[in-house]
Amino acid sequence: MKIILLGAPGSGKGTLAKKISNDFKIPQISTGDLFRAIVKEDSLLAKKVNQIMKSGALVPDEVTCEIVKERISKPDCNKGFILDGFPRTIAQAKALEKISQIDTVILVELDNDIIIDRLSSRRVCPSCGEIYNSQDNLNNLCKKCSSPLIQRDDDKPETIKYRLEVYGTNTSPLINFYSDRLLKVCSAGSPDETYKPVKSFLEKMEEEIE
Ligand code: ADP
Ligand code: ZN
Repeated sequence: MKIILLGAPGSGKGTLAKKISNDFKIPQISTGDLFRAIVKEDSLLAKKVNQIMKSGALVPDEVTCEIVKERISKPDCNKGFILDGFPRTIAQAKALEKISQIDTVILVELDNDIIIDRLSSRRVCPSCGEIYNSQDNLNNLCKKCSSPLIQRDDDKPETIKYRLEVYGTNTSPLINFYSDRLLKVCSAGSPDETYKPVKSFLEKMEEEIE
């Protein structure tokens, strides 16, 4: 099963991707995570990507497509994958069409004011990547590995606003592009409530594919 998760930053794509990945045994491929790993390297590309990410802008399509192409050619992607954060532009979607056939696109919908609230209180574990909310994690330590949590640079208020604009301009046209295979879910409720309709949908799809 080859799945794309589409939705604004902070709409809950990552949380949903982890649940799907766990139940359907296909890898979650988050371009944001791939770029955050690149930023830790000591290279010219790392410096460039770091600057772009801090500003909330998009990494150039050529760089992004190359990284995704390489990632989905690995053996763990044979049975499928979940793309979380890719494609983010029409050019990326067209490049993807040349290398893979996507079964379904899940659009995660959430109002901007809730997104802004969630992103401003988002904290992440720099060691294991687990995501928390500052209100439910008062001691600011990761429950899995005890590392002190951090706020991502791009979760600062000014950058959040800009990222939402970038989504509106560059990414939201993909909703039309994929209108023939789009499942819409609202993520205003809990992660489990959001996942429920997705799970039933994917279970049916899996039966049909097999
Ligand atoms: P969020 O979905 O919360 O904005 P991500 O972790 O998906 O965060 O992405 C963080 C940043 O990584 C983006 O703001 C952008 O700079 C870069 N990035 C991630 N995916 C892409 C992509 N498909 N194309 C271009 N840039 C990307
Ligand atoms: Zn951790």
